[in-house]
Amino acid sequence: MEVKKIEGHEVHFTGEPAEVYHEKPTAFKWPRTLMHWHTYGLLSPFFEGLKQGILRATRCPTRGCEPGLWLPPRADCPDCLARMEWVDLKNPVIGEVFTFTRVEYPGHGIELTYPYYQIDVKIPGCCTVMKGYLVRGEAKIGMKVKAGFRTEEPTNTIFDLYWEPAE
Ligand SMILES: [Zn+2]
Repeated sequence: MEVKKIEGHEVHFTGEPAEVYHEKPTAFKWPRTLMHWHTYGLLSPFFEGLKQGILRATRCPTRGCEPGLWLPPRADCPDCLARMEWVDLKNPVIGEVFTFTRVEYPGHGIELTYPYYQIDVKIPGCCTVMKGYLVRGEAKIGMKVKAGFRTEEPTNTIFDLYWEPAE
């Protein structure tokens, strides 16, 4: 095991060395299984809301600042840096497809069947456009879509929010 001293702390390399192929250019095989831990931090109410079937936005409390709702939510206002307030949107949440992409081959970690439509949704009262996915139907610009929630067996990720045609 390789041990390096960095400012008095020992750093241990715990992985296996990469397998190197001495061809030109040098190539190596470095298989890894990553376990990624992170916190939702101040955005936790948003993800907790999805599991309860609630779409939660944030709003800046500062007078004269952006009055619209932010979705996806922001913990702090990007304009005046004030801590944002939470606002629960009333169901049904009906938005409009602002633009869309038909995804033929999603990237690693996108646990959806494909092809699917990734849609950008304009929600009344929001100053932002939110990304999401259409769970059925064919996306069209301007179509009305309704927010749906994966409240049974939630993934605890943004995939717990989906959109379906509302007309
Ligand atoms: Zn603000």
